[in-house]
Amino acid sequence: MIRIEAEPWEVMVSHARKTYPNECCGAMLGSTEEGHKLVRVAIPLENAFAGVQAQRYELRPEDLLAADKAARARQMDLIGIYHSHPDCDAYFSKTDLQNSCPWYSFLVLSIQKGEFHHANSWLPNFEQTEAAKEELHY
Ligand SMILES: [Zn+2]
Repeated sequence: MIRIEAEPWEVMVSHARKTYPNECCGAMLGSTEEGHKLVRVAIPLENAFAGVQAQRYELRPEDLLAADKAARARQMDLIGIYHSHPDCDAYFSKTDLQNSCPWYSFLVLSIQKGEFHHANSWLPNFEQTEAAKEELHY
């Protein structure tokens, strides 16, 4: 189960709307207690994918490392990654699976015609073959 506080939620939705029709991406910081994740801060990161960004995103390892450091400086953890799907469902794509890590929650925001439509959070397995839908509250 993952719960997202109002402020980081607002940050992520406005980031996704701003980068539309391209994909946005970023880091989610917070805490995990007894399997319950709480997102308290969202950090927008640059989509570093060199090609067409409407269907792809890429995070720089050094940006993720910086987000991890920022989390620890606030006594939090890097608990997830978010990205948007412009004019597309909030599913977890094959590419998303290939670029996933099993220890993070992956939030996907569906942005349709520039406006927020729906979101899903995914938990990929270690083999990167499938992702389970995580209970999401925001
Ligand atoms: Zn995706």
